[in-house]
Amino acid sequence: MDCIFCKIIKGEIPSQKLYEDDKMLIFKDISPKAKIHLLAVPKSHYGFLEQMSSQDQADIGYILSKIAALKDELGLNDGYRLTINQGESAGQTVFHLHIHIMGGQSLGWPDFTQ
Ligand code: AMP
Ligand code: ZN
Repeated sequence: MDCIFCKIIKGEIPSQKLYEDDKMLIFKDISPKAKIHLLAVPKSHYGFLEQMSSQDQADIGYILSKIAALKDELGLNDGYRLTINQGESAGQTVFHLHIHIMGGQSLGWPDFTQ
């Protein structure tokens, strides 16, 4: 399958991995938009939340718990933001579900109406 994140999961494309287990991977975003910008991805491939199987739904809960458990180790002890872009208007460019993890600094709250 021609999916860049599946290739990263399989090790076919290099990445800076910070955590990996049988369900998920956390690696550094190649184009960071915050001092710390990581991506948490399920190993199961799907692009959209509405495509999740019941196992995928359980895995998302697992991934959120794991991010919380790893926050100090990841440098996120002062707070962090999680973002899931879904679809074109949201700016989704990779169609393998991923959770952006941003932190390491004070994060403003953008006013998207401006
Ligand atoms: P999104 O726009 O929500 O689909 O996010 C995709 C993210 O993947 C962007 O922040 C990209 O910078 C990031 N990205 C794309 N290719 C790679 C890669 N090879 N390694 C790490 N991050 C990547
Ligand atoms: Zn994939």
